[in-house]
Amino acid sequence: MTDERESALLESVPNQLFIGGEWVDAAGGATLDVRDPSTGLVIRSIADASVDDGARALDAAVAAQDAWAATPPRTRSDILRRAFDLVQERKEDLALLMTLEMGKPLAESRGEVVYGGEFLRWFSEEAVRIAGRYGLNPEGTGRMIVSQRPVGPSFFITPWNFPFAMATRKIAPALAAGCTVVIKPAELTPLTTLYFASILAEAGLPAGVVNVLTTSSSGSVSGPIIADPRLKKLSFTGSTEVGRKLIAQAAEGVLRVSMELGGNAPFVIFEDADLDKAVDGAMLAKFRNIGQACTAANRFIVHEAVAEEFAARVAERVSSMRVGRGTEEGVQIGPLINEGAVDKASELVDDAVDRGASVLAGGSRIEGEGTFYEPTVLSGVVPGSQILREEIFGPVLAIATFADEDEAVRLANDTEYGLVSYVFTRDLQRGHRMIDRLETGMMGLNVGVVSNAAAPFGGVKQSGIGREGGLEGIHEYLSTKYTLIPVD
Ligand code: NAD
Repeated sequence: MTDERESALLESVPNQLFIGGEWVDAAGGATLDVRDPSTGLVIRSIADASVDDGARALDAAVAAQDAWAATPPRTRSDILRRAFDLVQERKEDLALLMTLEMGKPLAESRGEVVYGGEFLRWFSEEAVRIAGRYGLNPEGTGRMIVSQRPVGPSFFITPWNFPFAMATRKIAPALAAGCTVVIKPAELTPLTTLYFASILAEAGLPAGVVNVLTTSSSGSVSGPIIADPRLKKLSFTGSTEVGRKLIAQAAEGVLRVSMELGGNAPFVIFEDADLDKAVDGAMLAKFRNIGQACTAANRFIVHEAVAEEFAARVAERVSSMRVGRGTEEGVQIGPLINEGAVDKASELVDDAVDRGASVLAGGSRIEGEGTFYEPTVLSGVVPGSQILREEIFGPVLAIATFADEDEAVRLANDTEYGLVSYVFTRDLQRGHRMIDRLETGMMGLNVGVVSNAAAPFGGVKQSGIGREGGLEGIHEYLSTKYTLIPVD
């Protein structure tokens, strides 16, 4: 990997707003800097949208809505499929770009291109299968027709941790359903979405169907768009804190919302678990994306009979993990997204240790260039520790113990979040009981990663509203219409 290749790629990424099929400067020419978290250096300056630019982007999406909804499903499907093919051709560029702006190891960025790209393929297949229902009413006096219509212009706000997949997981079903889009990626990682917009244009997407706003003023640019009665849908992925604010704003116009919010995933290991599998699952569920995933295992709740052995085995694996710039061969842990994330990891570890936890590996920030934190294992984390309540969003594996199944369930459910849970047991009946008893939208039973374009991704409790992907994903962008025709 050469620096020239990185520079050439970065130069090729559009640095303007994408509105109505044109690349345009922000009104007033404002720009914002994008940095590489492994060096802290600016890698690209891009347009910094204002409230006026937001209005222009929504105008473009509204203008394109009727024609896009009337575009034959097969045509919409073909465009998505071409975008999927182009993503495969540009896989290496997309992966490198994500690593440069977000920091994750290249191998993981490649994995995200595969995962994110699958939403394009999956929803290209779903676009032509939007079905309704026809039936006689129970009285035999009326014919009932149930059909599906596109919701209309949709606004997407995405986070920095999965810059590609969080965009495709929303854009693909919206386009399949016949909705136009304004998307505002996170200001920390906007380059991937800009690059992807150029792929969509190349795939033949008509002007105005997808519009991209990059801005350092997320709240002030998003507010008026959400308040505009022409907008029909808001879909957000990010923190529960911001999600709550957006739900309140959307309530004003009774706007339809999808919310993919924070998590605090329990990873429960029973005494009968296959410990080899549990250790492998734990490494994936915890350290993928440097621990910066909504699905990251946040609390390891381990039966007291196997806790010591599990802790020793993960500590051994973690101690030999390679930390460094994501572009370097063999690196498993890249930088955290910024200084604030390093401070947060330090604070949570210090609090747990003050309350009696032991550090079995890592435990400190790494001084010098970039924002790195050592991959860390803590055992004996006591109830009440901050690390068990808050999203860690860093490479820290925290182990607490339990004595019986009821206690495991109580501890696992003791959170306002409910995105995903992981359970390791060889007892089939217990596995089924845990599916029923754990309050999460998703579960990995003897596996550490659950995401798949064919699966309904989403949470319960304060982890969100709605589902992305699977058969369910397209319904976030469809509204149901029922018609009654009397039988003469
Ligand atoms: P964040 O909530 O700080 O930001 C998310 C997005 O919202 C960004 O684009 C940001 O610019 C924008 N934003 C921030 N304040 C806003 C406001 N007042 N109005 C409008 N937009 C605003 O979250 P983050 O730090 O980017 O991402 C991490 C969070 O995302 C974690 O909590 C994680 O669990 C969650 N997440 C959830 C999922 C999921 O599918 N459930 C997936 C990935 C990340």
